[in-house]
Order: sequence, then structure tokens, then C-alpha cells
Amino acid sequence: MVYDVIVIGAGPAGLTAGIYARSKMMSTLVLESGTVGGQLVALYPEKGIHNYPGFETVQARKLSDKLYAQAESMECDIRENQKVVDIVDGDQKIIVKTQDSEYEGMSVIVAIGMGEFTPRKLGAPGENELEGKGIDYILPVKEDLVGKKVVMFGGGNSAIEMALIADQVTDTTIVHRRPEFRADEMNVKNLNESNIRKIMNANVKSFNGTDHLESITIEQDGKEMTIEADLAVINIGITANLEILKKWGLELTENGLIKVGIDMSTNRHGVFACGDVVDYPGKYKQIITGCGEAATACLMAYKFVKKPYWA
Ligand SMILES: Cc1cc2nc3c(=O)[nH]c(=O)nc-3n(C[C@H](O)[C@H](O)[C@H](O)COP(=O)(O)OP(=O)(O)OC[C@H]3O[C@@H](n4cnc5c(N)ncnc54)[C@H](O)[C@@H]3O)c2cc1C
Repeated sequence: MVYDVIVIGAGPAGLTAGIYARSKMMSTLVLESGTVGGQLVALYPEKGIHNYPGFETVQARKLSDKLYAQAESMECDIRENQKVVDIVDGDQKIIVKTQDSEYEGMSVIVAIGMGEFTPRKLGAPGENELEGKGIDYILPVKEDLVGKKVVMFGGGNSAIEMALIADQVTDTTIVHRRPEFRADEMNVKNLNESNIRKIMNANVKSFNGTDHLESITIEQDGKEMTIEADLAVINIGITANLEILKKWGLELTENGLIKVGIDMSTNRHGVFACGDVVDYPGKYKQIITGCGEAATACLMAYKFVKKPYWA
């Protein structure tokens, strides 16, 4: 089968592309290297999203579930564990290669976000040994936090928001290496009004424990202290890997992201892009912007494939 459009990536941008493509009655395949949901599920499933229109607050996992359900209800063919490794021009079609299959499409929308990303590590002694044994990089569900001493590392919006979630159910501390947070005023205000203990200007010397995390040794202003901890959540950013874009022959900006026109076209005929993976002056990496770009990318793919006389 030759699909009208093949969408690569099933984060919010890719799922929205799928929804819009189906609303144009295009046969649509969505290929996802891991599981559906993108960063919302992989990095911050428990976090509340307060800036997605139509929801005063929605948990990231729930927003992703809703996008997934909508795409499925519109009969998008969504396939998980299909990492795209190449995009090759065929005879009047485009061949999308995954690790174990090949698919044919008339157009392609690239929505791979940050590609294959991994959470950044602190690099402190004991971190690798205790990973999964009291050291985590995403916040577990609230029920699993009850009764635990939680220590959050990081000073950005995400670390503060996750600390605030943990604080709703358990004893929570936040540790930041700088004297001030790098986060929205509202988050800092909420933090200051909470019961969360703040340890600023501090670095981790070691994570301690044998079978499980028991304590953390921290250096603050030249002095060492050891605090008890059952769970350390490290939230200091992620390392993205978008090397694959070069292989796909896509023109990149100096930021290593796909250069797109205002119509979300790339330098390749029939290949459009949207979401965190694209770059243009004023680009803002948010769910709403990625979804908006997906709608544009879809319309352009529709025009490219169907060539309606009126568009
Ligand atoms: C901690 C944190 C908190 C955030 N909070 C907010 C917030 O409150 N509000 C907001 O609007 N934004 C927020 N963001 C930003 C938002 O998550 C991103 O802008 C959004 O996820 C981008 O969506 P996307 O679909 O472009 O990419 P992603 O969500 O990264 O999804 C891309 C998908 O493509 C898949 N993929 C990658 N490579 C391949 C491949 N080769 N083949 C097939 N599939 C592939 C990935 O597995 C992934 O599922 C936050 C980000 C972070 C890190």
C-alpha cells in the first residue's frame, strides 16, 4: 500500500498531524520508534500542563492519551517500535525505512521531536549504581511517593513543578546548584509558599546506599552535609540525539534542527516537518506550537499529494 502521508514520530506534533491528515481523508501511517506520547509520557507523565488551551490543567499522560485516542478513532494506522532509519526517494513516492520494514508514502511529515533523547546525569558517585534503586529521572506516580523522603535535583520549571507534585503527598526537598532558580515566577512563588525544603548553591558529593538509596551527601558553601533520602529525582535536562537528520538529507539550521519555511516545507520534495525538531526565527518549543505546525504541515502535504484545483 502507498500511504498518502507517513508521519514519523508519535508525540503531540505527530499525533496531531495524524488527526489532521485523517480529517482530510488521507491514508495515514504514523511510525513511532518507542511508545506513543513523546516527551509527555517519556519525561513528565505526572506533570500538570497549564498552558494547553481547553484544559485549565491536564496531566501530561492524560493529554497524550487523549491525542492518541483521537488519532485512533480517526483510523490512523499507528505503529510503535518502528524506528525510522532512512527516507529515500522512490519513483513518484517516498520510501520510509525502519529497522525491519519499508513503507511507501506520497508524502512524509517528520515529527521526531528531540530524536532519541536521554535524561542528563549528574555524574556523581553512586548515581549509576543506584539508578532504579532510589534514583530516577522521571517522577513516579504520586501513590508510589507516599511515605518516602523525596529529593528533587534541578532548578528549572520542570524540577519545581515535579517537586510541587511530590510535596502534595510526601516530605520533599529540592537541591539546586545555583543561588537562584531558572523558572517562571509563578512556579518560584508556588515553591516559596510550599513546605518544600530548599538547598541552594549545592552540589552532590555522593549518593549513598547498598541495595537502595539511603542518603545523599551534599556540599553547600564549602560545607558537607548528609541528608536522608528514599528517592532522588534528577531533573537537569536531557541530551538529544538528532544525528539521523543529516543522513536523511534534510537541511539543518545552526542549531542542528530542520530548517523549514513558513509552510513547514523542508528542502526535500514532499517532506514536511513540525514540532520540536524544526527551527525558524521565533520558534518556541511547546505542545501548542508543535500542534499548530502539524496542522500546517498536513495541509501542505494534502496539497502536495491531492493537488486540488482550488487550493
Ligand atoms: C520536562 C518538560 C516539561 C515540559 N512542559 C511543557 C508544558 O507544560 N507545556 C508545553 O506546551 N510544553 C512543555 N514541554 C515541551 C513539550 O513537551 C514539547 O514541545 C513537545 O513534546 C514537542 O512535541 P513533538 O511531538 O515535537 O516531540 P516529542 O514529544 O519529542 O515526540 C517525538 C516522538 O518521535 C519519536 N521518534 C524519535 N525519533 C524517531 C525515529 N527515528 N523514528 C520514529 N519515531 C521517532 C520519539 O520517540 C517521540 O515519541 C515540556 C518539555 C519538557 C522536557
